[in-house]
Amino acid sequence: MKAAVFVEPGRIVLQEKPIPRVGPRDALLRVTTTTICGTDVHILKGEYPVARGLTIGHEPVGVIEELGDAVTGYVIGQRVIAGAITPCGHCNACLDGSSSQCGGKAMGGWRLGNTIDGCQAEYVLIPDAMVNLAPIPDLLTDEQVLMCPDIMSTGFGGAESGRIRIGDTVAVFAQGPIGLCAMVGARLAGATRVLVVDSLADRLVMSKRLGADVTINFKEQDPVQAILEATNGRGVDVAIEALGTQSSFESCLRVIRPGGVLSSLGVYSSKLTLPLDAFAAGLGDHTVVTTLCPGGKERMRRLMSVVASGRVDLRPLVTHRFTLDEIEKGYDLFANQRDGVLKVAITTGSPS
Ligand SMILES: [Zn+2]
Ligand SMILES: [Zn+2]
Repeated sequence: MKAAVFVEPGRIVLQEKPIPRVGPRDALLRVTTTTICGTDVHILKGEYPVARGLTIGHEPVGVIEELGDAVTGYVIGQRVIAGAITPCGHCNACLDGSSSQCGGKAMGGWRLGNTIDGCQAEYVLIPDAMVNLAPIPDLLTDEQVLMCPDIMSTGFGGAESGRIRIGDTVAVFAQGPIGLCAMVGARLAGATRVLVVDSLADRLVMSKRLGADVTINFKEQDPVQAILEATNGRGVDVAIEALGTQSSFESCLRVIRPGGVLSSLGVYSSKLTLPLDAFAAGLGDHTVVTTLCPGGKERMRRLMSVVASGRVDLRPLVTHRFTLDEIEKGYDLFANQRDGVLKVAITTGSPS
């Protein structure tokens, strides 16, 4: 089969690999559609270490090709997705409600395209299939559910971890694909006013289109000042950080009201410090919470039910389409953020 393989920093290359062999608890999916994540670009650039020779990708949409001997409740030919996070479902961390941290290790639930071969390939092995395979409702297309495995789960997770209540005012810093999903999730969770911050005009246009109330271009105005002015000095109830920089984290802290929540989705790569004035010297009753993409089949079922209900349509996020044969072109476009790209759909040509 063809698979997009991490060869060395700077090179993810389409190669021939054997079709994986199915263990008792696994399922083999014939991948129909997948996508490229910002994290995959970190892998490409050598900023996030994975083994050389690993197949990349953690956002699978496909059809069950083969089931392990111990797997029941599914049939060959069924259309399914699996989350980017594929927990085991039976370790202490999973049973304690921290399945993204499966095995008790930070990020332990992230296996596809991290510690085992991923789904930018014609076939992918899904571990612990009975915990992770979520059947796709008949009426939904591949592209309608393509955001469920990662960015929708992550973005909505940021809104949920922020404990947004009906009537809240929420700020979202950065409007890349995850920040956009966090904004949509904040609205679904009951926020009645959502202010978003980015520097790219076309992202702010997309943000408006998907429901943001106020857009702030931080190249044109200071976002902290703009948010405080827009809230009459009160600040927001919840700020969601979706970039992963000191400055964005700090701005979030500066715009939440005392007693507010900073919900962090960013991936930070250098030192992160708390400014004591914004942190009220530790006495502001602030909550800082972090979230890794929730996975597992029940999470995926819920997200697909949101799509099926018509309350959310994330198809506009798919700005470009490539076949698996063209995936290196897809990486080039996505990694260099050319042509207003938000997400790319990668199709294998296999019927869904
Ligand atoms: Zn991802
Ligand atoms: Zn587990």
